[in-house]
Amino acid sequence: MADTSSPKREINKSKTKIPMREQAPGDRIFNFEEVPLGYNEIEATQEALRCIQCKDKPCVAGCPVGIDIPAFLKLVGEKDYEGALRKIKEKNFLPAICGRVCPQEDQCEMVCTLNKPAKGREPGGVGRVERFLGDYAMEHDLTITPEVAPPTGKKVAIIGSGPAGLTAASDLAQKGHDVTVFEALHKPGGVLFYGIPQFRLPKEILVREIDGLKDMGVKFVMNYPVGKAESLNSIRDRFDAVMIGTGAGLPWFLGIPGENLNGVYSANEFLTRVNLMGGYKFPGGADTPVKKIKRIAVIGAGNTAMDSARTAKRLQPEVVYLVYRRSRLEMPARIEEIHHAEQEGVDFNLLHSPIEIVDDGKGAVGAILCQEMELGEPDASGRRRPVPIEGKVKEFAVDTVVIAIGQGPNPLLTADVPELERDPRKGIIKTNEWMQSSLPDCFAAGDIVTGGATVILAMGQGRKAADAMHRYLMTGDPARKDGEAGDVCGNFPG
Ligand SMILES: Cc1cc2nc3c(=O)[nH]c(=O)nc-3n(C[C@H](O)[C@H](O)[C@H](O)COP(=O)(O)OP(=O)(O)OC[C@H]3O[C@@H](n4cnc5c(N)ncnc54)[C@H](O)[C@@H]3O)c2cc1C
Repeated sequence: MADTSSPKREINKSKTKIPMREQAPGDRIFNFEEVPLGYNEIEATQEALRCIQCKDKPCVAGCPVGIDIPAFLKLVGEKDYEGALRKIKEKNFLPAICGRVCPQEDQCEMVCTLNKPAKGREPGGVGRVERFLGDYAMEHDLTITPEVAPPTGKKVAIIGSGPAGLTAASDLAQKGHDVTVFEALHKPGGVLFYGIPQFRLPKEILVREIDGLKDMGVKFVMNYPVGKAESLNSIRDRFDAVMIGTGAGLPWFLGIPGENLNGVYSANEFLTRVNLMGGYKFPGGADTPVKKIKRIAVIGAGNTAMDSARTAKRLQPEVVYLVYRRSRLEMPARIEEIHHAEQEGVDFNLLHSPIEIVDDGKGAVGAILCQEMELGEPDASGRRRPVPIEGKVKEFAVDTVVIAIGQGPNPLLTADVPELERDPRKGIIKTNEWMQSSLPDCFAAGDIVTGGATVILAMGQGRKAADAMHRYLMTGDPARKDGEAGDVCGNFPG
């Protein structure tokens, strides 16, 4: 009798991930091109074949949007790249972006059955294969065209064009609504455009996705800060429903003497000048300059701080100091970003807390004074509290300081709408389980609801809000009657 069972799947028993080629540190600090170069087909297939297709699939639960990771890895192992892409796009429409910036090491890869560091075993390289698929789609012009439902006659405004806003715009357009996105800046994409540098996320990827949205009929109104150009209530009068996805773009400062000196930037301003305005090309290639830096200190240890330090490195100063008041263990940035920053020669100064920025005598930054710290007992967050070491203060001679210690929601949009309920301490918008705010026609999603979080969480919330808005628009009731929302499902152009 003929054997009808499927052929036995080969497993790649390599303990470690297939390495990804990247630009050498000595080369890349002289350019803004992407650092990791991605997998080719052979590398992607070999990495996908490391997945043992275990029964429990802990990676699926570890993914904030529940991508069927073993299924797409299996398809890549079979070289069915289009099938794999379709499988991912059931839950996540931006694989080329998420494959690059998602913190997989804390999510799907952390819980991977293969992940046994004590035995020298690394988890499956889920992010790397996901990125390969996103890039494969672009290189082969593989567009999974979304179907757009007949017009509903309903008009929707989306305020903010970050991952939350773009996701909601895509979903609502597909449901047949007339969607307009209002964005304060001159380019859409939110942090993906102005924050995350080109060497981590090439902007061409984003442009392609946004062009796809325009093809679906989504309108973009740029340079339009709602709250200043037009009030939220006026927008509400013009549209049937509103989705607020304005993110958390208001930088926090340290509150120490000297923060108003020339040469002190928030990370947002610094990254925006370089990434969005191309300030590093000034003069000649850009209208907005970034200061000519000789010695710079970046304060903080999250992704924003690493992005700032690595961006600064590419501006060719003599030295880039990274200053953080806790130890390496507590650094919130992705391990890969910390590793890349170290490789590029960023000078890490852990257990140092800034206490004063010193005037150079001309109203500009001359130095920064830092209190040396040691770790004490755990604080409320469970992390060991940094405690000053008496009498130990270090001076760093710098002409520029970038403060990257976090950010919160910008009150511009909400200032004149007291009836829109916000958390009194954090300023984030309060929503019910349907992402609906205290104003029934206003929904909200992303960092404006969660505080600073991640791209994939913002996308998940954008989709959830779009689902609820659709029900609100069609029935007046956002409460779902048929199953769960929340996935960042497919049918996104590109
Ligand atoms: C430098 C940096 C690096 C990061 N790196 C990573 C990473 O590697 N991985 C990861 O997962 N996450 C990362 N994050 C976090 C992630 O980018 C955010 O969680 C995510 O972008 C939030 O999406 P959002 O749509 O809610 O808001 P945003 O991306 O902030 O977009 C909000 C948009 O709204 C616009 N806007 C604000 N106010 C108004 C107004 N009044 N009117 C009109 N438009 C307005 C803003 O200009 C912006 O374009 C990083 C964040 C930063 C700052």
